[in-house]
Amino acid sequence: MENQLRKSDTLTVVGELAAGIAHEIRNPMTALKGFIQLLQNSMGEDQYAMYFDVITSELKRIESIITEFLVLAKPQAISYQRKNATVIMKETLDLLSAQASLENVQFITSIEEGLPDIYCEPNQLKQVFINILKNAIEVMPKGGTVSVALEKIEGEQVLISIRDEGTGIPEDKLKKLGEPFYTTKERGTGLGLMVSYKIVEEHNGTIEVSSKLGKGTTFHIKLPIGSPTVH
Ligand code: ADP
Ligand code: MG
Repeated sequence: MENQLRKSDTLTVVGELAAGIAHEIRNPMTALKGFIQLLQNSMGEDQYAMYFDVITSELKRIESIITEFLVLAKPQAISYQRKNATVIMKETLDLLSAQASLENVQFITSIEEGLPDIYCEPNQLKQVFINILKNAIEVMPKGGTVSVALEKIEGEQVLISIRDEGTGIPEDKLKKLGEPFYTTKERGTGLGLMVSYKIVEEHNGTIEVSSKLGKGTTFHIKLPIGSPTVH
């Protein structure tokens, strides 16, 4: 518990700093992208195609870092509302279906009927689902199944479980999840889970992770039904 509190303090500071910086970086980025596009058009693609590929992919990387950071900021239009997590999850799975099938990943869902609404910011929650589902896809390079379950549990909560058949996470690394910049991927940002933990915390929910090496990992997201007390 103590550990959790400290982590959340760090996240708040990081979030405030990051939001400011991210906004500042966005504008010059847009200009860069525009001029590189112009340059590419006027030079013709053939000779320098490889350079442009690298530039474009690195720009995309910067962009994804910034986008993940920006979610930490109180976003543009934040609106908490009553919504069914099923709807948000289905939208998210649709969004990721192309990437999943490209990676030979199959989504299997098990959704309890008559699941009660939760009080949430749907875009932020979608971001949480995207981040965790993307990790699940990325951890199965040869493909596999991601099982998604939504159910009502004791204590007036909705439990959302996302299970993959990936590499699993070593026990001693579990506590590092959600730390800013913790990544084991060559092209990772180490921000996806930090952002997700932060969002779920703001919803008065929790995220727990269980994992078995070589078997897979499950993320358990618990969110309260009804209005959280403060925002
Ligand atoms: P990134 O995906 O950019 O590395 P994340 O914050 O999304 O950043 O994840 C941080 C790290 O947590 C990952 O690099 C990986 O080591 C670990 N991780 C997250 N999800 C999973 C998963 N489903 N299976 C195994 N490891 C995971
Ligand atoms: Mg990730």
